[in-house]
Amino acid sequence: MAAAPNLVINPTRLWDTLMQTAQYGATAKGGIRRLAASEEDRQVRDWFKNACEALGCTVQIDTCGNMFATRPGRRTDLLPIALGSHLDTQPTGGKFDGVLGVLAALEALRTLIDMGYETNAPVMIVNWTNEEGARFAPAMLGSGAYAGIFTEEAAHAAADREGTTLQSALSTIGYVGPEPVATQRFQALFELHIEQGPILEADNKTIGVVTGVQGISWFEVTVNGQEAHTGATPMHLRRNALLGAARMIEAINTVGLAHVPGVASVGLLENRPNSRNVVPGEVFFTIDLRHPDATILTQMEQACQSALSDIATAMNLDIDQHRAWHSPPVLFSPAMIACVRQGATQAGLPARDITSGAGHDAAYIARIVPATMIFVPCLNGVSHNEAESATPQDCAAGAQVLLNALLGYDGQFG
Ligand SMILES: [Zn+2]
Repeated sequence: MAAAPNLVINPTRLWDTLMQTAQYGATAKGGIRRLAASEEDRQVRDWFKNACEALGCTVQIDTCGNMFATRPGRRTDLLPIALGSHLDTQPTGGKFDGVLGVLAALEALRTLIDMGYETNAPVMIVNWTNEEGARFAPAMLGSGAYAGIFTEEAAHAAADREGTTLQSALSTIGYVGPEPVATQRFQALFELHIEQGPILEADNKTIGVVTGVQGISWFEVTVNGQEAHTGATPMHLRRNALLGAARMIEAINTVGLAHVPGVASVGLLENRPNSRNVVPGEVFFTIDLRHPDATILTQMEQACQSALSDIATAMNLDIDQHRAWHSPPVLFSPAMIACVRQGATQAGLPARDITSGAGHDAAYIARIVPATMIFVPCLNGVSHNEAESATPQDCAAGAQVLLNALLGYDGQFG
């Protein structure tokens, strides 16, 4: 890999831009409420469009409201290298989730222009629509439509709780663009994002070199025993569904502990009839298993299934377990990961490999073009919260590595 030139971003300008745009949807507690396709989203989109056009970029918008700002490169035969994330937030979101990835991309572009540096490939900044899924479910609708996970019709038809569709809301704010989805092509996507977890902070690392996104398997389990009077039914004659579920939850937790860095969780449980003097007859609960390796994720599934069956048999309970959702692990582009790692070394920043525990636009995009991500720490790992906080130094570090990685990747075309 050719060494990338040393261009240095402007940390103050990046921070000022983050704070300036945080006014669109600013909350009293210092966060942002900027739901997808809302009036606040229109304001930040207009701001972003103007900022990119002021740099000489062409801004194109597709029918799902995804925004693509392009600066030409030295060569006209190459597709752009894209940098981006999302500008929408949770209802009580923070100032950095998604926003940092778009505004750091803008800072990288501003730096290139300041230095009069011409890349080989064009550079594109992307703002994906409705990443959060807070107003319109599911999440990552814009990048999902682009990657062919959802049809354009399905994305347009997604409705909020008032029954307003995404298409109608985008139309209201003037962001149903003329370009068919997925016609704004690019060859690779780098996404900078806050970690939204505690690993970097605990390990004293500034840069997370994201190697992929964990696979996710969800199961739904119903345990059936027999309802009985708590006073009149001796202990040894009970078929207690809740006691069985308790032992199963313990077993699932053990599966998680045995497959680090995998995680295994039970987060929802319904106990029936949920009465203090009835031995529980039926319990429903969910299982959430995650691991970056598909083979090990399958082993975790099997370990849970056999542990649950064994417990049910031993306690004379009936059990029904079925899969509710499966999202395979995503492996990011090795060549792009190498550019991020090199970019951190070049900037003298402490870095470590990490897998993403959450879904991101880049995970969908990675299914159709090479993609990868860069993480920076956020205070106490807190995100989706108005208290979400990242330091100016860490934001600048992320933007610098984003620029370094872009230039490193672009170097292959020189
Ligand atoms: Zn995000």
